[in-house]
Amino acid sequence: MSDTIAAITLSSVTLPLQNAISDAKVLTGRQRPMTEVAFLFAEIRTADGLDGVGFSYSKRAGGPAQFAHARQVAPDLIGEDPNDIQRLWTRLVWAGASVGRSGAATQAIAAIDVALWDLKAKRAGLPLAKLLGAHRDSVRCYDTSGGFLHEPIEQILDNATRTLAAGIGGIKIKVGHPSGASDLSRVRAVRAHIGDDVPLMVDANQQWDRPTAQRMGRALEEFGLVWIEEPLDAYDAEGHAALARGLDTAIASGEMLTSVAEHHELIRQGAVDILQPDAPRIGGITPFLRLATLAEHANLILAPHFAMEIHAHLAAAYPHEPWIEHFDWLHPLFDERLEIHDGRIHLSARPGLGVTISDQAREWTVDRADLGGSA
Ligand SMILES: [Mg+2]
Repeated sequence: MSDTIAAITLSSVTLPLQNAISDAKVLTGRQRPMTEVAFLFAEIRTADGLDGVGFSYSKRAGGPAQFAHARQVAPDLIGEDPNDIQRLWTRLVWAGASVGRSGAATQAIAAIDVALWDLKAKRAGLPLAKLLGAHRDSVRCYDTSGGFLHEPIEQILDNATRTLAAGIGGIKIKVGHPSGASDLSRVRAVRAHIGDDVPLMVDANQQWDRPTAQRMGRALEEFGLVWIEEPLDAYDAEGHAALARGLDTAIASGEMLTSVAEHHELIRQGAVDILQPDAPRIGGITPFLRLATLAEHANLILAPHFAMEIHAHLAAAYPHEPWIEHFDWLHPLFDERLEIHDGRIHLSARPGLGVTISDQAREWTVDRADLGGSA
């Protein structure tokens, strides 16, 4: 009666970026400019001939570790019922629990978990958002890819013009220059360029200390920002809570956390107004849904980080109107494009995630493992 998992293919894909990317972590010397992103794809095929695709990713380091970990734990799923996603996720987590229930181990599992959800939605003939139970068929979106620190302000303004013309609903720019005055002049220029009505956000990528974040937060109030993102170290829940209490502007964080438990600490301490979980980073869609329930009970807005191809579905199924982060970086990996107009991403009627891996992504594959039979 029930279907079984017959084969799993894991692929490690290196996506080259067109420009070397810098945010505040590069300006403080903690990271090198980013030139590529490592993706882990999982493709699952069943005895009934259905298939599911999922992915996880890693920036700067960790791609080979995710691939190696997935290769080690994924064979446990051969012969299992792909519908029992909760049980399978738990089994995979405990298979690698000695290296932790967060970080690279669960990020490796995330690719498999996403593939299982894609498979389940395809079996039902539904887009993933509909399988989960959608609140809306479109989600407001803002752009991040055009607002990094390596680009001069003139370029940022051009990017913003193009972004808004493409139907994207808001603009986020990076801050965190050694001089706060540089940050403020860039924010002022962008606000003047796009007008007062267009949603604008800033992102300090964890590089301010508490006094700087307080000072910058007060100075930024006049620009009517939708939020200030990662003003402090991602694990400084107390510091975020003090900012959130003291400022009118909303505080957002969570992208760097790698488990539901870490997010729960932010929620418990009232650290943020807007939570920014990343399904691949916290172990997949299964833990994301648990976290979404916690976030809803805390009356938080959700603004998932990166991976809009997955998060558009998850955001559509979240009760309070969320935001989706638009990045154009992943376009070459898939044959399909998300439909964007009037400031929103509109979900397609395609079943599952609605994506297929492109020939270009196949060419960028640097490692591959075929597990199970040749179904
Ligand atoms: Mg960010």
